[in-house]
Amino acid sequence: MLVKHTTGNRRIIIAIDGPAASGKSTTARKVAGMLGYTYIDTGAMFRSVTLKVLDLGMIDTVRSFPDSIEALLQDLSITFCDDRVFLDGRDVTSAIRENRVSREVSFISSLGPVRQRLRLMQQDMGRLKGVVMDGRDIGTVVFPDAELKIFLIADARERAARRYAELAAKGASGSELPDVGMLEREIVERDRADAERALAPLKKHPDAIEIDTSELSIDEQVTMVRDLALALLRREG
Ligand code: C5P
Repeated sequence: MLVKHTTGNRRIIIAIDGPAASGKSTTARKVAGMLGYTYIDTGAMFRSVTLKVLDLGMIDTVRSFPDSIEALLQDLSITFCDDRVFLDGRDVTSAIRENRVSREVSFISSLGPVRQRLRLMQQDMGRLKGVVMDGRDIGTVVFPDAELKIFLIADARERAARRYAELAAKGASGSELPDVGMLEREIVERDRADAERALAPLKKHPDAIEIDTSELSIDEQVTMVRDLALALLRREG
């Protein structure tokens, strides 16, 4: 059961980073709901830019001329409303989860103009605090002063199984529903690309608290993060 907690007026930023499918978004969404905070899924923002490139048929152009992405970023609008994601006013909540987007998102996320544009948007979204933001570089680059930094990890096979169940539950089939082994290879490859890129690589901030979710239920990981947040708010409130 979700119980809303009141912790005085002090509001903090909770940064949750970690590799693909480690449970970040589920945990972040639930913790935000319990604290009355706003949840911001920064992976959805990088996925939205990737979808825009794919839908405009520009992926090969951007691969050959990375700077060509700048034109497309100029009129970019990404907003969140009631758990839905809107790209330039269009509801893209389902489209950004398609595997064709997952396959290209690490490349698009490695581009400097994309990272710079989204970092500024994310910092603006968190300026009033009271946010739980998940991603790869929230604790290291976007909000290095976040009061609570969490780094979630989990076994790759377990993460692939979770992603498979998520896609199957959404009714994916055919090439949109690879087997667990293929999903595991794609996830490991995406983690490698995210961790090895030059700009804002996936990395644990030295102050981040690492939680291995391989053997934890959603409720257990949510409770751990919520309790860390509440302890911090009580101590400093
Ligand atoms: O969180 P999710 O798996 O949806 O993120 C998709 C991709 O977006 C990641 O694999 C990564 O390439 C990119 N990303 C990023 N920085 C973030 C969030 C996501 O580079 N803060």
